[in-house]
Amino acid sequence: MGILRQPDGMRALSRQWWREGRTLGLVPTMGNLHEGHLSLMRSAVAECDEAVASIYVNPLQFGAGEDFDGYPRTWEADLATLAEAGVATVFAPTDAVMYPPGFATSVEVAGLTDGLCARSRPGHFRGVTTVVMKLLCVVLPHRAYFGEKDYQQLAVIRRMTDDLGLGVQIVPMPTWREPSGLAMSSRNGYLSDDERARAVVLSRAIAAAQSVAAETDQAAAILAAANEVLAAEPLARVDYVELVDAETLEPLERVERPARLCLAVHIGPARLIDNGPVLPPGSPLPLGEG
Ligand code: AMP
Repeated sequence: MGILRQPDGMRALSRQWWREGRTLGLVPTMGNLHEGHLSLMRSAVAECDEAVASIYVNPLQFGAGEDFDGYPRTWEADLATLAEAGVATVFAPTDAVMYPPGFATSVEVAGLTDGLCARSRPGHFRGVTTVVMKLLCVVLPHRAYFGEKDYQQLAVIRRMTDDLGLGVQIVPMPTWREPSGLAMSSRNGYLSDDERARAVVLSRAIAAAQSVAAETDQAAAILAAANEVLAAEPLARVDYVELVDAETLEPLERVERPARLCLAVHIGPARLIDNGPVLPPGSPLPLGEG
């Protein structure tokens, strides 16, 4: 496996692939890879001549008091996972090369970063867009793969690549779940067995909202169904539950076009997020969505 730590080396390799007419796929991650990440890797391997995974725990996207220091770093296991997925190149830069002394530039997407997770994580999306922009500039992929698990992040990155004309195709990937319905996440590792079992309440809340949405387009009723499920779980401390337009992420009162139910809930030491599609009543739910 090729492991590159310097942007110059990575870019030189990418330029060589471009000269050879090879297509490049990038899967940006913070490591601690699980099946969800693996599904992105497998798609990149299948659809591109060269698949690059980046592993970088980006300090810019963590706020004060968040879990940057404790974020799981599992380098050896990650390399084995990447090899299993057929990824041959890893870009794993250090903080010193990503943010050298004097670093003063950031990328900020307006509007989409006003609500949802941004309210309790100010500055988070500026950190995400800045690091993703840097990764795209170094790796120069034709396609970059992002999970719908982080729905707001996906929307923000699409907006950034469109607005700045980066010419990168952003490929959305469905949320990979455990058999219980719990969305896979590196932060699930913070949970005890009991908390993990109870964390299924997030996906159950989404399912309850979706089933009410099959009968009504009223956001209040749809949200009430989700909140009722969450209220029944004593360990769940809700950060937000919102029904938003699937593209603009603006809160909706009625579901007249594709919407998304998004939620963030603290269970024990972990802040977990999840989301699912909500379509106008009568619309068939696309297979594999969610
Ligand atoms: P992270 O390492 O948490 O920054 O995630 C790296 C990428 O994997 C992001 O595009 C995430 O949206 C995606 N991802 C994380 N968990 C899942 C999941 N359960 N299913 C699909 N994609 C995921």
